[in-house]
Amino acid sequence: MNNTNSTPKNSKEALIRLMEGNQRFINGIRSVEPMFSHLKMAELSASGQKPFVIVLTCSDSRSPVEMIFDQGIGEVFVVRVAGNVVAPSLLASIEFAAANFGSPLILVMGHTQCGAVNATLQHTKNPSDVLPSIHLEELVSRIRPAVEKTMKLYPSKPESEVLELCTAENVKRSMGIILDQSSIVRNLINQDKIKIEGAILDIQTGKVHLLT
Ligand SMILES: [Zn+2]
Repeated sequence: MNNTNSTPKNSKEALIRLMEGNQRFINGIRSVEPMFSHLKMAELSASGQKPFVIVLTCSDSRSPVEMIFDQGIGEVFVVRVAGNVVAPSLLASIEFAAANFGSPLILVMGHTQCGAVNATLQHTKNPSDVLPSIHLEELVSRIRPAVEKTMKLYPSKPESEVLELCTAENVKRSMGIILDQSSIVRNLINQDKIKIEGAILDIQTGKVHLLT
């Protein structure tokens, strides 16, 4: 199966297409070469984009969305920020895509060994440490609630396990913030036009695990 199939009509089809692509990536199969040409770009510049999924994920260089899902140009609307947090401009990006392209799925994807989540975990444990800039402080403040909640729930787990639990909680938190703060997304969900899913990319294996 490859990506010349028709555009997914609903969230279920979109998710299947992503997970099939992830399996191809793990198997070392790359089906999207024709979707990565300048000719494809020219075609899309004329016809406009219609990405079938909106992905909010971390900026980590080991989380290249199109590659790990074996998708081509024009198929995935990617919003990337360290720690896959939801700040206003990132939410606006998601809303813009959701309102304009008819994408049936929003995927919030964290990843194992996330530096942003780990930095927040370390800072929550050692709050007197000074972060190097106000921008990093702001980012950490967005991840901290997920870290604090996880630390409270699992006070005696080893740190590596706590980090991965914090990462999953941070994904769920971002999903919740999108729902809470975006009436555009909520309306689309109520009309059964879009769905939000959460996932974790294992950066050792390349496998994407759904959280639901
Ligand atoms: Zn990360």
